Amino acid sequence: MFNSIQLNTSYTSQHHVHVGYEIGNKIAEYLSATFTLKKAVFIVDENVHRLYKDTFIKDISGLFDEPVFCLVPEGEQSKSLALFSEIIAKTLEAKVERITPVIVIGGGVTGDLGGYVAASALRGMPLIHIPTSLLAMVDSSVGGKTGVNHSVGKNLIGSFYEPKAVFTDIKFLETLPQKEIINGLGEVIKYGMIKDENILTTLKSLPLFEPFSYSKEWEQLIGTCARIKSDIVTKDFKESGLREILNFGHTFAHVIERVRGYENSSHGEAVYMGMWGAVKLSNLLGFNIDIANLSAFRTLYDSSFHPQESLEELTNLMLHDKKVKDGSIRVIILEELGKARATGITDLSLIRESWNYIIQEFE
Ligand code: ADP
Ligand code: ZN
Repeated sequence: MFNSIQLNTSYTSQHHVHVGYEIGNKIAEYLSATFTLKKAVFIVDENVHRLYKDTFIKDISGLFDEPVFCLVPEGEQSKSLALFSEIIAKTLEAKVERITPVIVIGGGVTGDLGGYVAASALRGMPLIHIPTSLLAMVDSSVGGKTGVNHSVGKNLIGSFYEPKAVFTDIKFLETLPQKEIINGLGEVIKYGMIKDENILTTLKSLPLFEPFSYSKEWEQLIGTCARIKSDIVTKDFKESGLREILNFGHTFAHVIERVRGYENSSHGEAVYMGMWGAVKLSNLLGFNIDIANLSAFRTLYDSSFHPQESLEELTNLMLHDKKVKDGSIRVIILEELGKARATGITDLSLIRESWNYIIQEFE
């Protein structure tokens, strides 16, 4: 008789996400209390390193006798097996131990790559995330997805690996380029749509076109988003059900990114456009979602979408998305504002009509 074993895959990140402003001291306290301050591996975005090497990074790395630095050039091409292997080599050559912390400082690219290094070297070293882009703060640093790209496709290599702690210091946003703030806002708006409409209200009151400057509202907003994500992944670490709702707008967005080319496409903007399609689809299915919730942010995203592909071709491209089950297209729809669920669409004319809606809005 075969006895199955219940594996515990629960995820506890919610207790370890700290959000604040100028929290360097808090991070230092945590590191001193948690690790022997001998070695540490720092995997750092190159731009962030340039901007903070004499301040934040100096303070944190100065805690350790032998900090090892691995710099990650900006851009998606850094999420490669080649750079992964280079950083692994540097890490192992430094004779690190299983208890040596891997401290990752940067945006989503550095986080995914650095997280995968931490997950893999010595079969797992303690991972500390210090996200520096808005997207990483509200999305990619929470949830344990790590990995790199392969020439066959994006994010095809990697693992789920829980960080020991995430420290979000929103001071980093003061140097983040405006277009990267707007990129991250795509996910922020998404949380407002699927979970908490107060997010949309707060966003409308913030000076989004001015250079970032600290306010309590920003801090709360980012904390709320990180908490929503953390709550969802706590309940569903390996993406079996609930976690799917985080893909609201994304089934459309992945096609937009693909036909535009990943290099010329901002993820947040593609998600924003994709959410127009998802709202339209929800309404075609009989729900009543006010598009004003999205159009309020239309001026943030001024670029257009003129695909060569026909509505039919765009729809067919969704069939290649990994979110396809049983020949139907799996998408996230809203039953009401703040209430999302996954559904399989077999009547593809509804999807074509949703594409048409996106193209008309963003022509
Ligand atoms: P994302 O975080 O959106 O997934 P990246 O990791 O590629 O994407 O980061 C976006 C860009 O922002 C990169 O060019 C990166 O070097 C830069 N960057 C990240 N954080 C900061 C920061 N705090 N200040 C300035 N530039 C930053
Ligand atoms: Zn996304």
